[in-house]
Amino acid sequence: MKLWRTPLDLDKFHIPHGEIHLIKNRCKGCELCVRYCPRDVLRISNVMNEKGYHLPEAINPDRCVACRLCELLCPEFCIYITGGEQP
Ligand code: SF4
Ligand code: SF4
Repeated sequence: MKLWRTPLDLDKFHIPHGEIHLIKNRCKGCELCVRYCPRDVLRISNVMNEKGYHLPEAINPDRCVACRLCELLCPEFCIYITGGEQP
């Protein structure tokens, strides 16, 4: 998400950070997680699982804000996020 200006009270907010996990052999390479991540964290890689599907990979893991949209959209329940709890 891009902000059109930096909020004056930005330092009062804690931005959560998530860790991305993938159950590789369950993925079917549909790219939903890649296309809809609002932070452009993921892309489809050249790595294939044993079924021959190309797997997503995190190219910008530090940008993940643990919104869990990828988790919600994944039809195979194979991508999930840990961390990101509010203090
Ligand atoms: S949790 Fe949100 S920001 Fe992180 S990879 Fe998934 S969709 Fe992107
Ligand atoms: S949404 Fe799920 S099945 Fe589709 S590419 Fe992402 S991890 Fe794989």
